[in-house]
Amino acid sequence: MWPAKATRRDADIQQALRDAAVAKIEVGFSHPSFDLWLLLHFQSFAGAQSGSSKLVIEKLRNAIGAFKDYDKRNDKSIKGVRREALRGREKTAADNARALVGTCVSGACKAAQSKTEPVDRDAPTESSAQWSARSGHAAHCPVLERDPCTDVWRLLAALGIVSYTKVADLRGETGF
Ligand SMILES: [Zn+2]
Repeated sequence: MWPAKATRRDADIQQALRDAAVAKIEVGFSHPSFDLWLLLHFQSFAGAQSGSSKLVIEKLRNAIGAFKDYDKRNDKSIKGVRREALRGREKTAADNARALVGTCVSGACKAAQSKTEPVDRDAPTESSAQWSARSGHAAHCPVLERDPCTDVWRLLAALGIVSYTKVADLRGETGF
């Protein structure tokens, strides 16, 4: 199970991560919001947003006509022309999301460290820090300081929609 939507309350997020580690549920954390994942289908993004989605949504509206009215009158739907606009851009979005891991302020986070393979229900329980390090972020990198970030790409990798080999990871991250 991959809950993709994060609540804004820090305490709720920390509790959700602890619960997820115990239950071995993957968490697709997006900061400042899931809207970032949509934007990354069209362009890269950088810079801490401190929980505000304003700039992300503005860029998304300007990125492509299908999203020009996104989040106006509470319309965050992803169907019709919006779904068509996203289609085929999954790899771009995943690449852009992975690039954000490498630029994380902690300095020790790398997409190549991420894990996307399923975890056996009987596997030993990991601490919430270890569990959230499956994202590629270092165990000591606080989730709320991963700004901006989105883990949704790992869901696509787990489902085989995008794929990354370790060799490609090494090339990508060492600049060969
Ligand atoms: Zn990090």
